[in-house]
Amino acid sequence: MADQSFVTLATNDSYVKGALVLGSSLQQHRTTRKLTALITPQVSDSMREVLEKVFHEVILVNILDSGDSAHLALMKRPELGVTLTKLHCWELTQFSKCVFMDADTMVLSNIDELFEREELSAAPDPGWPDCFNSGVFVYRPSIETYNQLLQFATEKGSFDDPIIGRCILGCRFKGPLSPAPRPWSCICADQGLLNTFFSSWATTDMNKHLPFIYNLSSTSVYSYLPAFKAFGANTKVVHFLGSTKPWNYTYDSKTKSIKGNMDDPKVVHPEFLNMWWDTYMTNILPLLEQHGIAKEATTGVNMAEVTEAVSHMSVSTPSPVLPTISSEERKERWEQGQADYMGMDSFDNIKKKLDSYLQ
Ligand code: UDP
Ligand code: MN
Repeated sequence: MADQSFVTLATNDSYVKGALVLGSSLQQHRTTRKLTALITPQVSDSMREVLEKVFHEVILVNILDSGDSAHLALMKRPELGVTLTKLHCWELTQFSKCVFMDADTMVLSNIDELFEREELSAAPDPGWPDCFNSGVFVYRPSIETYNQLLQFATEKGSFDDPIIGRCILGCRFKGPLSPAPRPWSCICADQGLLNTFFSSWATTDMNKHLPFIYNLSSTSVYSYLPAFKAFGANTKVVHFLGSTKPWNYTYDSKTKSIKGNMDDPKVVHPEFLNMWWDTYMTNILPLLEQHGIAKEATTGVNMAEVTEAVSHMSVSTPSPVLPTISSEERKERWEQGQADYMGMDSFDNIKKKLDSYLQ
């Protein structure tokens, strides 16, 4: 099975943590396939060395160094930068078939049977089930497909309404068009591009519809609790979709559970998050320690660093002109996990608000 591989992507050291847990979970469940990680130059050398312990192949991809077509695509639509990075997986022609998995997924059992499926097989998106979720998909590497995807991205891949400046396909991103820090699962990012390119997925071949248990969104646990109680035990892949990733939580290794606010439903139903952390603590932390990079051991977010970064930003950069959005819209964004951490909802601003209550 040397010509088949699981493939993931990490463009920075935080996502490498996710990739490591994913790789380790695939190993734990005795996959017979290769493990490949795509990384970009922002990943540190030491994290790359740790990745090489878990993955058979760690491949550096840089959209700007790649062929003319990719370069051209990016020149025309710079906001597609990260999206196009994911497309690099089609270039892995040393493999005849691959399963791409987001770095924020983890497997709970052996899923090698996915290699019996054809391109493009994927599970429905929990938000818009006529689209597939692009966090887990079966595909066949091919330079021809890669080039077609790039061409498609530049020519047809605009999902924004030019007048209202919003994604028109019903994604959770409701902000202004420019600048465009899109959530990754946004239908107008890689998911929209792939769904438009593989547009027959919704209606043609049921064999290409993976059951939802191959890409179970961790938020579905509490959004559809009765369904989860009935079917959740069969879950094979859990996907920590959304803006708060497992590595952003704080973990208490004594109680073996994540810490957090009980207003957060993910904290009330922490089963999968705790499993992620258990794998991280048992299999990944020792590797990080061997490489002298375990300083954030049990806390995903180092608050001291966050505070420092935020205060640094406010000193060195002029205050941005904040877009005026209604408090209702701001609340909605916050609830959808789209807090503007560097702007309105920055640590500094939240602290100021709290201070004003205390005065
Ligand atoms: N990714 C990455 N760096 C980023 C954002 C995303 O490497 O800054 C990769 C990573 O593999 C991630 C995938 O792209 O799992 C899709 O993004 P994400 O999982 O954050 O989106 P979501 O599934 O929450 O929509
Ligand atoms: Mn994801």
